Amino acid sequence: MVVKKLSRDRNKTHAIADKLLVWFAGAARDLPWRRTRDPYAIWVSEIMLQQTQVKTVIPYWERWMQALPTIAAAAAAPADQIHKLWEGLGYYTRVRNLQKAAQAIVVQHGGRFPEAFDEVLALPGIGRYTAGAICSIAFDQPTPILDGNVIRVLTRLFAIAENPKEKETNARLWHLAEQLVQEAAISPPRAQRPEPRAAFLNQSLMELGALICTPRQPHCLLCPVQAECAAFRQQRTEELPNLGERAAATARAFMAFVLASRGEVFIRQRPAGVVNAHLWEFPNVEITGPTPEPAVVFQGLFGVKAPGLDLLTVVKHAITRYRITLTTYQASLGRRPAKMAGMSGKWVKLDKLQELAFTAAHKRVVLAALKARG
Ligand code: SF4
Repeated sequence: MVVKKLSRDRNKTHAIADKLLVWFAGAARDLPWRRTRDPYAIWVSEIMLQQTQVKTVIPYWERWMQALPTIAAAAAAPADQIHKLWEGLGYYTRVRNLQKAAQAIVVQHGGRFPEAFDEVLALPGIGRYTAGAICSIAFDQPTPILDGNVIRVLTRLFAIAENPKEKETNARLWHLAEQLVQEAAISPPRAQRPEPRAAFLNQSLMELGALICTPRQPHCLLCPVQAECAAFRQQRTEELPNLGERAAATARAFMAFVLASRGEVFIRQRPAGVVNAHLWEFPNVEITGPTPEPAVVFQGLFGVKAPGLDLLTVVKHAITRYRITLTTYQASLGRRPAKMAGMSGKWVKLDKLQELAFTAAHKRVVLAALKARG
């Protein structure tokens, strides 16, 4: 059964690869990381693009490449600098792994990005998708890629109704992605196939998923592979991919305090090993159950009686499956407590906050505090 499916798939990949290559050569967006074959620059773009849209990534990528133009520069950069350059992109483990990988490249490969797929895959923070993307785009190797965009395109082209997370289906999708890129790169060259073929084929899948084969209301009438698309023929584009039931969002509430004293505010740094490690934030606690009086929370947090507390801002944001509400109060203390209930942190002038990397929600608190000051 599986063998039959695979050989049926093979017949389609010829036509799809041909059409995608030609389409991509004419339709590709001019993105800054597409103007280079530097594996470092492509790697940075691929890591930034995980979970983040292209238009958001462009200024981050440009700032990063200007500040840290080489692998050696990324390896040697202070932790504060890499976090600040990443501030707002979220999923900060990515930037820490990027630096660890840069350091590994310096030590193990003399600072030169490795070309062998297995060596790329062995680097921290680089999985099968990213290794495939870098090796194909930078080195034109026929290494497959499979992410959310490519899964959507392939499940529709081949009308795969099973959940892509299931082992057998996932293996079939990887196999299809591999057939496509190998078909593009290795099969006897055809005159009309633009180069570099592996690089173009993988990027054409990404591009098709981003621009044409969108999650809702795909633009099938503009699609270069419409004639090969089983979901289009069967009018099942809206039901594929079958991603199963989504976990319901969980609401979480936090209370934070912007505590000011002698022209400075108190902030703390999130410890290693937790979400958003190393980023700065205002002291806060998670509220479970009925909302307590802010003064009670303040005293529990700082170990001193609360002065007058004013509501500063309520920030709502979503991260992964959490819907977070961060209610922030501001307060002013004449004398600083000798001990802040054992809390480590530092007092910083409001103007200096912008130089530090904050979590996304607390960055909005920083902006609210600056605005309130006038
Ligand atoms: Fe996606 Fe529609 Fe193209 Fe099929 S025809 S690949 S559903 S855009």
